[in-house]
Amino acid sequence: MKRLSQWIGNQPVAPASGQYLDDLAPATGKVIAEIPRGSAEDVDAAVAAAKGALAGSWGTSTPAERADLCDAIADAIEGRAEELAELESRDCGKPITTARTVDIPRAVANFRFFAGAVRHDQTGFHDMGGGRFNYTLRRPVGVVGLITPWNLPLYLLSWKTAPALACGNALVAKPSEMTPLTADALAGIIADVGAPAGVFNLVHGLGPEVGAPITTHDGVSAVSFTGGTATGKHVAAAAAPRFKKLSLELGGKNPTIVFDDADFDAAVNGAVRAAFTNTGQVCLCGSRLFVQRGIYDRFVAAFADAVRALPTGDPSQPETRVGALISAAHRDKVESYIALGRDEGKILVGGTRPALPGSLADGFFVEPTVIVDVAAGARCATEEIFGPVVTVHPFDTEEEVVAHANAVPYGLAASVWTQSLGRAHRVSAAIESGMVWVNTWLLRDLRVPFGGMKDSGVGREGGHHSLDFFTEQRNICITH
Ligand code: NAD
Repeated sequence: MKRLSQWIGNQPVAPASGQYLDDLAPATGKVIAEIPRGSAEDVDAAVAAAKGALAGSWGTSTPAERADLCDAIADAIEGRAEELAELESRDCGKPITTARTVDIPRAVANFRFFAGAVRHDQTGFHDMGGGRFNYTLRRPVGVVGLITPWNLPLYLLSWKTAPALACGNALVAKPSEMTPLTADALAGIIADVGAPAGVFNLVHGLGPEVGAPITTHDGVSAVSFTGGTATGKHVAAAAAPRFKKLSLELGGKNPTIVFDDADFDAAVNGAVRAAFTNTGQVCLCGSRLFVQRGIYDRFVAAFADAVRALPTGDPSQPETRVGALISAAHRDKVESYIALGRDEGKILVGGTRPALPGSLADGFFVEPTVIVDVAAGARCATEEIFGPVVTVHPFDTEEEVVAHANAVPYGLAASVWTQSLGRAHRVSAAIESGMVWVNTWLLRDLRVPFGGMKDSGVGREGGHHSLDFFTEQRNICITH
């Protein structure tokens, strides 16, 4: 069994606590690795290493040098893509096809994209006339803390690491304790491609024991956090009085809205993808499906058929579309919402554990589940479940469905399916969320602002928004 280390100053090191935590494979429930049980002492060592990097050659590195480093990391990830996809699939219980086509290619793209972004970046120049002008410098923030969740481990860690490195910061990263494997591989890759020691430090461990010390550490100037809304509140409360820059990407309960003029087959496929990609464990998943009354019965029948046909089970099989949930505790939570859905409505599809052979019998699986005849304001239709569960609701008018869409505390993403151009614009503008997709879902352009409003987060990442977050902009005003 593999025993992981912390990565501090490009070296694998044992945790100060001397203790280790089990890392389980969700598809079998078996221990596949041990990870360091980190502590504030490890965070102190990581911050000291990061400060050392900033005081050394990294502190005077140029954007072009940092872009080359990001490209080298991208090349190395690409060169090990299959190995990393297998690690990610095993560690998360996610279908191998998802890891191969989404997680790992996106990690490569993140590093390439932000290499290009800093190569092409332009900063402001404001001419006041009369020999008076301003120009704006971008400077790294300093030591930056990155805290990431388990659902898209390398995808999200690289989404933060790439711009933070490209902007010249030194990092202390804490991956989810449930999915440490690809973060460990990334730390090795960054050391191997020749990043100066201390530029990327990785501290494994539990949220309150490693994440919390990162958020309160006086040496950490900014924290980029992706995770649940309840955890985000702790992070915000810890970081705010210390005046750290803070980016919070939190939970969602996203509507998929299908009007009766939509391309029917495309909307059915899109709604299935939105609900069940990554076993429903994407913050952007469309877990509330609203269908206009004129097509409701036909749509629900086609949607239910498509969900029943989703291959569920062994994540290592290329045809599998729905894999395991991350943990037994998370499966308990998802099943508690299915039980609630039984009381609040009717289970049309799924609702039970699939019968799987051999070692998979101990995995954390739940069948993809569709709940109907349920009020739009029911708990199972308004609280984040973060699993393969979708509620379906009929509606009559635009005004009604927009009111339903906005009647939750979250505001992350939505998808709207219609052939009417006017309706697409009206409804998209009226939905309170950071992102709206029309006639598609999860089509990502890395330049656009990514993030949520309301309880789904504060701030935007992506494109120059990431560059703004991971730098301090400093204005110089000159007269001559
Ligand atoms: P989580 O909040 O439990 O954990 C996220 C990370 O925070 C983990 O690394 C965890 O160890 C750490 N953590 C826990 N307690 C902490 C504390 N007190 N201080 C600092 N760090 C702490 O979330 P999760 O269960 O890993 O992930 C699922 C959640 O993430 C869902 O709510 C999902 O919607 C959200 N998410 C959001 C986005 C987005 O971009 N908005 C993307 C993916 C996931």
